[in-house]
Amino acid sequence: MASKFRNRGYPDSLLNVPLDNPPSSISQQRVNRMAFVNTYHPFMPMFHGLIRKHWPLLGLSYPTDIGSSKLVKRQTLLATAQKGTFPCLHCLQCSNITRGDKFTHPRSGKRFSIRGFFSCDSTYVIYLIKCPCGLGYVGEATQHIRDRISQHKSTIRCKKLLLPIPAHFISHNHSIAQLRYQIIDSIPVARRVGNRILKLKQLEAYWISCAPNLGTTWPQ
Ligand SMILES: [Zn+2]
Ligand SMILES: [Zn+2]
Repeated sequence: MASKFRNRGYPDSLLNVPLDNPPSSISQQRVNRMAFVNTYHPFMPMFHGLIRKHWPLLGLSYPTDIGSSKLVKRQTLLATAQKGTFPCLHCLQCSNITRGDKFTHPRSGKRFSIRGFFSCDSTYVIYLIKCPCGLGYVGEATQHIRDRISQHKSTIRCKKLLLPIPAHFISHNHSIAQLRYQIIDSIPVARRVGNRILKLKQLEAYWISCAPNLGTTWPQ
């Protein structure tokens, strides 16, 4: 533990103090300062701005960490958060995802931009499933999208012909591996869960019926 703090630039005079007998100056410092601990995320603009503003100060405090090229590189990466749909890289549904920051309407060919960062981990999303014929199916999921895609694949495997996706896949001899999906929109966290579900349903209706040229549910 001591070596880790030493690597972070803490002086030996501080590290050699017995833990059960801290000097009075440290106790006094604790009274006069406020500690804020939080997991960093690039979509928290207030904290992101604060960290960017005081980055040189943090560099002075933690020269071995922040001064290293590895961490600077990571900070740059976080600062330029991507938008689009991406595989989480640790689940069975990654292989079916279509990665990218745009999606194409199945019939019109019109391109839409994806407004957030999504992966197989995402929840409360609108997703678009495409088949090899180019048809599309718009759906919503409150659970992790990987679980919903897994359910769709299971219905194809079990040949549940009363449902549109397995009916189409079976009748057109599509394989499960040919199922492609993208997350195209989402509802962010709301104070009331009920509101979030309602908004998700409204958003699904928008993408199915109201969005220009995206008024398709599969199959037609
Ligand atoms: Zn995944
Ligand atoms: Zn098809």
